[in-house]
Amino acid sequence: MSESRAFCPRCGDAVPERSASDANSPLRPGAEVELCDSCYFEDFDFVDAPNRIDVRVCARCGAVYRGNRWVDVGADDYTDIAIEEVSEALGVHVDVEDVAWQIDPEQVDQNTIRMHCYFTGVVRGTPVDEQVTVPVKIARQTCTRCGRIAGDYYASIVQIRAEDRTPTTEEIERAKAIANAIVADMEATGDRNAFVTETSETDDGLNIRVSTNKIGKKISNKMIEEFGGTVNDAETLVTEDEDGNEVYRVTFAVRLPPYTPGDVIDLAADDGGPVLVRSARGNLKGVRVTTGERYEASYEEGNSPDARRLGSLEDADEATVVTVEDDNAVQVLDPETFQATTVARPDYFDAEAETVPVLKSRAGLHILPDESDD
Ligand SMILES: [Zn+2]
Ligand SMILES: [Zn+2]
Repeated sequence: MSESRAFCPRCGDAVPERSASDANSPLRPGAEVELCDSCYFEDFDFVDAPNRIDVRVCARCGAVYRGNRWVDVGADDYTDIAIEEVSEALGVHVDVEDVAWQIDPEQVDQNTIRMHCYFTGVVRGTPVDEQVTVPVKIARQTCTRCGRIAGDYYASIVQIRAEDRTPTTEEIERAKAIANAIVADMEATGDRNAFVTETSETDDGLNIRVSTNKIGKKISNKMIEEFGGTVNDAETLVTEDEDGNEVYRVTFAVRLPPYTPGDVIDLAADDGGPVLVRSARGNLKGVRVTTGERYEASYEEGNSPDARRLGSLEDADEATVVTVEDDNAVQVLDPETFQATTVARPDYFDAEAETVPVLKSRAGLHILPDESDD
């Protein structure tokens, strides 16, 4: 074979021997490769480009319709989207080596970007170049998710309520933050159907409408994990989908415990002194403001022992310490009357302190832990 001469199968001209590495695969004993350069380049098509590219873009969120679904592409603007779509759609001939290309987008009107693409490469030792222009037409639409958001679609409601009180500002704000964080996490994993439809404060708490039951469940579980309390769910049949399956909307009713950390309560069942609540997750836990001893409600009482609320850490006033009487008693100035008053000395009382936080309530005057430097 090394001595034989090869001839172009099309024009019959002699073609130079090709090296073994260049030779066509034996599986494809093609006439093609053996074409002389002039016949080869006659048919050579460097760049394969469509006449135009139509792109459906969601005008609200920038998602692009590909195949049969909407995809978030993370593009900043329509030019970025057009460049990405053109890159996907253009093809270059497999024989070409050292391919380089650049795109010069030209905004023709609001919805048309003309993409001038310039390609260079090398084939059969010959430099080749080609310029193609592909118009990209942007169709502004609304994706399924944005359509649902605009239509106030929701599949689940989370109701944040509290037992014998209204939820605190902290609990309400935390519930909103949890809802947004859960949705953001799901979006980050590519879930396009996760969104908060609406949050609305009511007289007795907060309602959060969300796009899936899964999100509703996650929010309510996270709330009771952080704050204690219970959750009940109830299904309501709302409709049938196009396949005739029943579609349920689930309401998650979160009931936060009656007392929150920082509350000072007076227990009905004992006279061991008021308790500063430290935790309402599981059984209520706290400290006695008379002695500083730990308190924990029984299993039966859970997070709602029979008690009345006297106030909270935030209601405390600073009182001047007059004298430490003994291990069990301190004299302080009543912050309202400024009369020296003997009160119980809890073990968290700092004997060096000049002033201490006190709570004056129906149960009397009590020294609270000093947490001002927390
Ligand atoms: Zn030829
Ligand atoms: Zn959208």
